[in-house]
Amino acid sequence: IATAGTSVVEEKVYRSPIICILGHVDTGKTSLLDKIRHTNVQGGEARGITQQIGASFIPVENIKEQTKAFAEKVKMEFKLPGLLLIDTPGHESFNNLRSRGSGLCDFAILVIDIMHGLEAQTIESINLLRMRKTPFIVALNKVDRIYDWKPCVNTEFKEAIKLQSRAAAQEFDSKVKETIAALAGQELNAELYWRNKDIKNYVSLVPTSAHTGEGISDLMLVVMQLMQKRMIEKVVFTEQLQCTLLEVKVIEGYGTTIDVILVNGSLNEGDKIVVSGFNGPIETTIRSLLTPPPLRESRIKSQYIQLKSIRAAMGVKIVAPGLEKAVPGTSLYVVNDDDDIEKIKADAKKEVDNVLNDIDTSGVGVSVQASTLGSLEAFLSFLKKIKVPVGNVAIGPVHKKNIMSAAIMKDKDPKYAILLAFDVKIEESAQQTANDMKITIMSEDTIYLFEQRLKDHFGAIKDKLREETAGTCVWPCLLEVVKVFHKADPIVVGVKVKEGSLRIGTPICVPESNNAFVGTVTSIKNNEKEVTIAKKDDTVSIGIDDSAAKTTFGRHYDEKKTWFSRISRESLDSLKEAWGEELTKSDIQLLKYMKTVFKIQ
Ligand code: GDP
Repeated sequence: IATAGTSVVEEKVYRSPIICILGHVDTGKTSLLDKIRHTNVQGGEARGITQQIGASFIPVENIKEQTKAFAEKVKMEFKLPGLLLIDTPGHESFNNLRSRGSGLCDFAILVIDIMHGLEAQTIESINLLRMRKTPFIVALNKVDRIYDWKPCVNTEFKEAIKLQSRAAAQEFDSKVKETIAALAGQELNAELYWRNKDIKNYVSLVPTSAHTGEGISDLMLVVMQLMQKRMIEKVVFTEQLQCTLLEVKVIEGYGTTIDVILVNGSLNEGDKIVVSGFNGPIETTIRSLLTPPPLRESRIKSQYIQLKSIRAAMGVKIVAPGLEKAVPGTSLYVVNDDDDIEKIKADAKKEVDNVLNDIDTSGVGVSVQASTLGSLEAFLSFLKKIKVPVGNVAIGPVHKKNIMSAAIMKDKDPKYAILLAFDVKIEESAQQTANDMKITIMSEDTIYLFEQRLKDHFGAIKDKLREETAGTCVWPCLLEVVKVFHKADPIVVGVKVKEGSLRIGTPICVPESNNAFVGTVTSIKNNEKEVTIAKKDDTVSIGIDDSAAKTTFGRHYDEKKTWFSRISRESLDSLKEAWGEELTKSDIQLLKYMKTVFKIQ
């Protein structure tokens, strides 16, 4: 039973390709999936779509039936048994469909809202697809929102355009052009699918509406065509097991179960398996393989039906003892009689270690928590890109103990005493502990939203530090006095900045005159305009408050020697801490020289 996932053509056995849906929030990913799943079953004649665990199977018969209206023109030989659509759209499931670092998703549908064009997560998705080298097409969704658009369901899309008013057709045209231009900005060639003569180098755009159902048959057909034309070899069925663990769930009556997508190979009741666990690999035996009952057989009361054996591609729930600590997003291995189980366990362990080892061993950095190994991996690589060090990682809901680990950073470096919760639940007691210990939890369910929040967090800390150290920070600066206007109370002179930069608040002294202290800069005028900073080679007039100086201009020092900003060990440390990233190479060189002048170790 349950071999819906394969077909035999010319001696070759094919499995269904695994298809993921990606795109920006609110572009209609969930609605499209629902529409694909539900409208198509209502036809009655077509063999129904079957609900699986974590995925929906769209049989080829169904696609044939749906495209009957324009089938003569298509003249396509259907070789694949159907398509296996992953039920949870988005980066998460895409990231999780991985095995030892490579992607298991065969093909993707990138959803773009035709009215909005490219958005932040559209670009993120494109980058993900590129990284995993996953081919994709674009669903240009929400065409029904074009003003005066007349829905044309079950018509080939290019025929539907001909039935529109001129204004509607024009708006459609201009939206398509805008999207094509925006995709070109991402270095992607794109074209409406019926005009696309170069599917190798151009991404096909399929206009759709999840509300009216327009374009959905076209979408299924185009996916099928592209899979068959470009990558059919990738979906040849083999017994080489490829199986990835999507979720760990406790189910009443069954205990802890794992939901997996079997991408290739087969699984049987009684198989000995190995999965990665938080405390090392877990060796266990499949007790049952479960899948929801077929829709038509609603007289079956139970939630699941049991299968003796399954073949790829398929989504299934596995019941087995000892799965409590299984890590979502890792591979499942079957141990055959002649396999070396220790080697398999080592591989399973390596899979988790590879991701976790990516973090800085010095242990100073933010704490990170994600729902699965795949999403953790994606999150870590994002944090690396934006140069945020990571000190702790964990997978699963945020518990009190995770807050305690984050709190350790308070002593090490307080700016990192925060917990980034990416698409995970936060237990109430954890939130309470965080409030008590003043640990910030940043919780978001999309990666890119963290970027601004982290920027704000570190920015606020830096601003505060700069404010606090404003009195002690001194920038390196050498001045040549070019004119003397006033010699005391206050001192007013014209200066040329020979090296470095001069700011308001800078203490000035003359090292060659016994380090005589001149006073503190209170105003800078450049061409009669008040400024806060003067750069190298600027000539400005400055006012200096000399009330705290015990020296006299003309007696203890004069304008002939070079005036310096007065630095000290303390000022150097403050400057480095608060402005370290802003110091230029020449600033650093100048500081080095000044350290010798001021004899600072
Ligand atoms: P997701 O965040 O990408 O999964 O988007 P959803 O499927 O949740 O859709 C977001 C919103 O857009 C919902 O209010 C949908 O009803 C609406 N929507 C989705 N697809 C379409 C469409 O084709 N046409 C119109 N007019 N609205 C749509």
